Amino acid sequence: MISKRVQGFTESVIREMTRVVDQLGGVNLAQGMPNFPPPPELIEAAHRAIDGDFHQYAITWGTPRLRRAIAAKYRKFYGMEVDPELHVTICCGSTETMLATLLAVLNPGDEVIIFEPFYENYGPGCIISGAQPIFVPLEPPDFSFDPDRLERAVTRRTRAIVFNSPNNPTGKVFSRGELETIAALCREHGLLAITDEIYEHIVYDGLGHTPIATLPGMAERTVTISGISKSYSVTGWRVGYAIAPPDLAVGIRRAHDFITVGAPHPLQEAAVTALELPDDYYVKLRTSYQARRDLLWHYVEAAGFVAWKPRGAYYILTDVSHFLKQYDVRDDTAFAMWLIRNVGVATVPGSSFYAHPELGRTKIRFCFPKTDDMLRDAGERLLKLRS
Ligand code: GLN
Repeated sequence: MISKRVQGFTESVIREMTRVVDQLGGVNLAQGMPNFPPPPELIEAAHRAIDGDFHQYAITWGTPRLRRAIAAKYRKFYGMEVDPELHVTICCGSTETMLATLLAVLNPGDEVIIFEPFYENYGPGCIISGAQPIFVPLEPPDFSFDPDRLERAVTRRTRAIVFNSPNNPTGKVFSRGELETIAALCREHGLLAITDEIYEHIVYDGLGHTPIATLPGMAERTVTISGISKSYSVTGWRVGYAIAPPDLAVGIRRAHDFITVGAPHPLQEAAVTALELPDDYYVKLRTSYQARRDLLWHYVEAAGFVAWKPRGAYYILTDVSHFLKQYDVRDDTAFAMWLIRNVGVATVPGSSFYAHPELGRTKIRFCFPKTDDMLRDAGERLLKLRS
């Protein structure tokens, strides 16, 4: 009875794992969301907004105040010239922003290059848009890509390169050199760069974040997508946005208008407070996430996982081949279920990040936007795997 379009979609494995651990009990290191509250200023701002006069639709592409705050922040952090009237569209989270963008720029039959592993939504996003995703591998240990392979993936039909840096699930932060390689290909072949920069403020070891839109000739061919979910610990508010050249922003706004009409008005109002937080907020955010990374990293290594240390975002991807043999478990999905039942820790099976599921069959992903006590609880449980 359901359409061909959605027949191929399975329930998001990430969200499924949350459901399963809620039923069976255990520590949820599957779906990437904080178990700690957002900054108190944001909660106060949301209360003020609910008490105020923000109960009806906002302008479909976002409240002028929030668009102005976004423009000011991009000017301050990245030196980007963002016109709130022409460039910015606010959507329901960066997930809707990505979908609205893909619908706005892709025609059926177009091809889109996606680095693999990838955040699970990009595949269905392309398929809903009628486009064909073409995958280019990111190879461990540093999850770099082969520039020749990337170039060979470009055909006459390629319209865009989609990438996510800092990266979910690998923790990779694309280097300046890699951004330049992607930018050069985009310029040479007239492609768009569509970037998911939702983890822009979560980078480690002194690294910074560079939006590819700031590279020469890229502002006019980049859609920069981000949102407030991860930077301000409000994944449930569903406020994301795209910064795009005016001709593309027109299309994104049209698609968005017919998908959701608008993001929640009071929460857009409260989001202004988030974007105006002082600089030291971001320093503290990075420091606290680095401490969480180090804590979970310690346990993951001590428990005997083969893992790649993340340089950004809040996930640790691991290889569990030896555990599959040791505990006689079939694959990543079975191991994720086994971990919930036997160890009491929920993770995400690696195959959910691959279009070629076999590439993820020996991997699982942990997330660590969690308080220390929760990470320690999970860590102590994982140590049982050693014996
Ligand atoms: N981005 C988060 C993750 O990767 C949550 C996404 C989701 O619910 N699918 O875990």
